[in-house]
Amino acid sequence: MLASILSLGGIGLLAALALGLAARKFAVEVDPRELAILEVLSGANCGACGYPGCGAYAKAVAGGTADPTLCTPGGAGTVAQIAHILGVEATAAEPQVAVVRCQGDNDRAKLKYHYLGIYDCTAAQRIADGPKSCPGGCLGLGTCARVCPFGAIEMTAAGLAVISREKCTGCRKCIAACPRQVIAMAPLRATVHVLCNSQDKGALVRKYCQVGCIACQICHKTVPAAYVIENSLARVVYEHQEEAAAAVAKCPTRCIRDFAEGYPEGSRFSAPTCPTTAGRAA
Ligand code: SF4
Ligand code: SF4
Repeated sequence: MLASILSLGGIGLLAALALGLAARKFAVEVDPRELAILEVLSGANCGACGYPGCGAYAKAVAGGTADPTLCTPGGAGTVAQIAHILGVEATAAEPQVAVVRCQGDNDRAKLKYHYLGIYDCTAAQRIADGPKSCPGGCLGLGTCARVCPFGAIEMTAAGLAVISREKCTGCRKCIAACPRQVIAMAPLRATVHVLCNSQDKGALVRKYCQVGCIACQICHKTVPAAYVIENSLARVVYEHQEEAAAAVAKCPTRCIRDFAEGYPEGSRFSAPTCPTTAGRAA
């Protein structure tokens, strides 16, 4: 009995020694700057930087293979901290926000057919290019809202995605998920946007949507520097965005929205919205 206990104890001791030696021999040295960078990242693991998570990005930045300014959820504060850790100069890019370029919910835009399949925009898009008559309109099944790591997207009761300017960190996950390219990035400082994504001629747009851009050019004629019309669709020239609000009330279909005055109808996000960086890491 005693011999068995001693021999088992001996085996245990030898195994512990072997494991200790192996741990020393195969230990991987971690750059302390990598750990310091990981500490200051947002921890959201959202992939905005283009890496699979904060750990991979911290490693790449410390190793000199990644730009230190790519953590958009962290904003300018995180960039400054990383630059300090690395002893380099780095400036954060201008804060961006995602915008759903559509107001054509199920009350205001026509459907080609009633979709009864899987509750997913990508699945719906595969059936005859989606149930919405407008080829660029929001399908309203919330695929973008489900991928947003920050809970920044709400779906209205009438089936329209709306993005909170306060909650969006500009990670672009929704853009990658949307099968209709309805969502685009825009400077956070800009509050006026053309909320339409149709490139059809005005006469056709009128047939399927009450709030679509009909390329009438009134916005451009009102403020020539702030609007351009391309492919039958108006867009704001963000370099002149402070002048763009002058055309909002002139648009005959009300497809230009100033978010400083509120979100699209049906949204529960509070309004008016601070046009600068409220709620966002600056
Ligand atoms: S709304 Fe889009 S860009 Fe903004 S945080 Fe969510 S997924 Fe990222
Ligand atoms: S914005 Fe795109 S992903 Fe989001 S609900 Fe509309 S169609 Fe679907």
